[in-house]
Amino acid sequence: MSAGYRISERARLDARNTFGISATAPMLVEVQDAAAMPELFGYAMLRDGPVLVLGGGSNLLFAGDPPGAVLSLTAQRIGIVADDGATAIVRADAGVGWHDFVLWTLGHGLCGMENLALIPGTVGAAPIQNIGAYGVEVRDCIHAVEAFDRRSGTLLRLDRQACAFAYRDSLFKRDPEHYIVTSVEFVLSRTPKLVLDYAGIQDELHGMGLDSTSQDLRASQVAEAVIRIRRRKLPDPAVLGNAGSFFKNPIVPVAVAAPLQATHPALPMFRGSSDDTRKLSAAWLIDQCGWKGHRDGDAGVSGSHALVLVNHGHASGAALLALARRIADSVQSRFGVAIEPEPRIIGATW
Ligand SMILES: Cc1cc2nc3c(=O)[nH]c(=O)nc-3n(C[C@H](O)[C@H](O)[C@H](O)COP(=O)(O)OP(=O)(O)OC[C@H]3O[C@@H](n4cnc5c(N)ncnc54)[C@H](O)[C@@H]3O)c2cc1C
Repeated sequence: MSAGYRISERARLDARNTFGISATAPMLVEVQDAAAMPELFGYAMLRDGPVLVLGGGSNLLFAGDPPGAVLSLTAQRIGIVADDGATAIVRADAGVGWHDFVLWTLGHGLCGMENLALIPGTVGAAPIQNIGAYGVEVRDCIHAVEAFDRRSGTLLRLDRQACAFAYRDSLFKRDPEHYIVTSVEFVLSRTPKLVLDYAGIQDELHGMGLDSTSQDLRASQVAEAVIRIRRRKLPDPAVLGNAGSFFKNPIVPVAVAAPLQATHPALPMFRGSSDDTRKLSAAWLIDQCGWKGHRDGDAGVSGSHALVLVNHGHASGAALLALARRIADSVQSRFGVAIEPEPRIIGATW
């Protein structure tokens, strides 16, 4: 890796995606030093062809082999770049594991990430879909994103505003061939501002013998509650291949949500991206269509979580995609609502 990168041909990706789907990259480029990027993108295959940036492969479905090179960022540094005693700016390389990073921040007395504990994947992927869980989105803590701009061939820095974050969305997700995130800067507080109102967190804290109203409650204890809930609710990809929630919660105009609420009072709905939209629970819609626990060969839906598609062994990406389409069609015809996949689909279109 003397040049800051290593290239291998016909690289298997089976162990590099949490669905555990068989796929092969024509070329795999592992980049240790982001400074090598301008030189690397001088090669025609990278400069002119499609390039898939692969983190932990926990938000991808290989419905076919990636058509071009696959690039993996392996740098693992974490450091505090500014600290005024009340808040600190922490910079982490794209290759750092997300959960390790959350634990690092908590271990350094820095708060803000506790609700995002145990999300699989890498720091570099966190801004792509603006990861979120238990009432918190990563955009709330992102200070800036450093990225390689494939169009200009330069490394640059985008502030939070420029990243155009939205629900499970960002500038990067909308145009995946444009930027490669090389590191992320987070702004974190030394004073906890705990978000405890999301379903289940307070009950879990009580179950741990903690008082959720106490001034002494620590961010690390909230992270522990989140970890316990997630371990109980979500299948572990090491045991049962999956990519977490397969569908995003649909955001619809109030004019669509209101009649649905009248006919289905139990349908959970929340404020959408604005006052005139509502976010509907995709899990509820799918569950009502009877999909929980369904199985087509090795392609299935988790028995405990209707949003999670699972690979029971040797499902192909195409079989999982076909199942996902049938689920979306059934929700569309029963409720008139379109649901869309959250993971990126490689080798096919939705
Ligand atoms: C069990 C389980 C639970 C999950 N729970 C949650 C959850 O609660 N909330 C949530 O938001 N997500 C969740 N996810 C989805 C997933 O973990 C996150 O989206 C995560 O950020 C993906 O990280 P990754 O490194 O695995 O990205 P990958 O799957 O490798 O890539 C995902 C996308 O990001 C792009 N990408 C990756 N790295 C970079 C980079 N450095 N620069 C540019 N583009 C890049 C890829 O090209 C791809 O388009 C869950 C997944 C699983 C398996």
